[in-house]
Amino acid sequence: MKLILLGAPGAGKGTVAKMLTAIDGSVQISTGDILRGAVQAGTELGKEAEAYMKRGDLVPDSLIMGIMEKRLQEPDCEKGFLLDGFPRTIPQAEALKKLLHKLNIKLDMAVDIDVPRDVILDRLCTRRTCNNSDCQAIYNVKSNPPKQEGICDKCGSPVIQREDETEEAISHRLETYNEKTAPLLGFYEKEGFMKSVSGTSSDAVVEAISSELGL
Ligand code: AMP
Repeated sequence: MKLILLGAPGAGKGTVAKMLTAIDGSVQISTGDILRGAVQAGTELGKEAEAYMKRGDLVPDSLIMGIMEKRLQEPDCEKGFLLDGFPRTIPQAEALKKLLHKLNIKLDMAVDIDVPRDVILDRLCTRRTCNNSDCQAIYNVKSNPPKQEGICDKCGSPVIQREDETEEAISHRLETYNEKTAPLLGFYEKEGFMKSVSGTSSDAVVEAISSELGL
């Protein structure tokens, strides 16, 4: 499958993407994960992106498009991909449209995972993430804690609260989402392949997407 997963931070895009990869071997492409990996590795990209990310601001479109242009041409994308956290702005969506045209790739649909704001706020404040950039497993202190406190079940690395998941950064990320990313719903509506799914349960979202795609 070739999907764009839209939705506010904390809507469950990452969790849904991971569940969908298990269905047909499509790969999850999370620009947030790629950027956090670059920050940890101290690459040029990471150095450029770090300050924006800490504040909860978007990284410039040109950096993101550079990442995506390379990533979409890697061989593992041939089976399909789930775009998680990209595009985030109208210029990114326009640039993606051109890039997909150039690469002769057709998307199945854009899915908006729609979750009430109070659920999002609660989820983000209680979310914890594995600090290993190759893992980045997601936990929740209330609903899905790691078996051993602070240690990732999958790889044994520390499980941390992300720097952009303080109350201040979270509320800034949600404002940024409303201002810059929410207009993409109208963009993909016009493109004719937008589907909105209520997202309080990731299982239900995955089921709705699978049935829409006839899987
Ligand atoms: P995420 O893990 O998707 O919540 O992304 C974490 C942070 O990475 C965001 O708050 C942005 O600073 C940055 N980021 C991730 N994806 C993008 C994107 N498509 N465009 C701009 N910035 C992004």
